Amino acid sequence: MVTLAQIMPEYLVLGGIRITLKVSRHHNARRMTLRYDAQRHLIRLTMPPRAPAKLGLKFIDEKREWLTHQMEKAPQPTPFEDGMELPILGKTCTLRHVDVPRGRVELKGGVLYVPCLPEHFSRRTTEWLKHHVRDALVAEVSEMAPKLGVKFKQVRVRDTSSRWGSCSASGNLSFSWRLVFAPRHVLHYLAAHEVAHLKEMNHSQAFWDAVAKIDPQHEKARAWLSHYGSELHRYGAER
Ligand SMILES: [Zn+2]
Repeated sequence: MVTLAQIMPEYLVLGGIRITLKVSRHHNARRMTLRYDAQRHLIRLTMPPRAPAKLGLKFIDEKREWLTHQMEKAPQPTPFEDGMELPILGKTCTLRHVDVPRGRVELKGGVLYVPCLPEHFSRRTTEWLKHHVRDALVAEVSEMAPKLGVKFKQVRVRDTSSRWGSCSASGNLSFSWRLVFAPRHVLHYLAAHEVAHLKEMNHSQAFWDAVAKIDPQHEKARAWLSHYGSELHRYGAER
């Protein structure tokens, strides 16, 4: 038997750029889907369990132009650099590298000062941003939970690419640290979303009623996320 990996190419060339192709079968897939993953710079093709490989190849060929367009319009990865502008919880700040071996990271007058050796700049900046957004989320969640009469355990921040937040059955809440680049109302909504899950572990009407109780403006935030969510992934990307 010939496997998918033997038939499918390992990479595609789109708009003159070589890009890795990842092909997988999914037991739930009813049709083929193609997706450009900007963060990892690869194309994912998902196929139904028994679809022939040659149909996959044909599908890619038909979508060539569309894929090239997806790649072109995706946000370009921007590594942390001295002097760059960063939106931090809705305020545009300037990132400054202070070239000394050690010191405290400080946000003062719209400038984020990061004292460290050049080789640690990206990591120190990321660490500070993770702490900063976690503090903001803890404050939000602590204020919201009593309003719904629920309790949470821990608030964690992670580097998740596919979801902004999650809630475990044991009451731990996790969020993507990249929300530090989102406006306050978006952070507020995502905190409300996960807190509401402590009451309703589903997306039923009762769940959305709970969200609305603590965040009446949630639809605005959801619209923002669907338009600009992918932008949050561009900062601090490794080149
Ligand atoms: Zn949810």
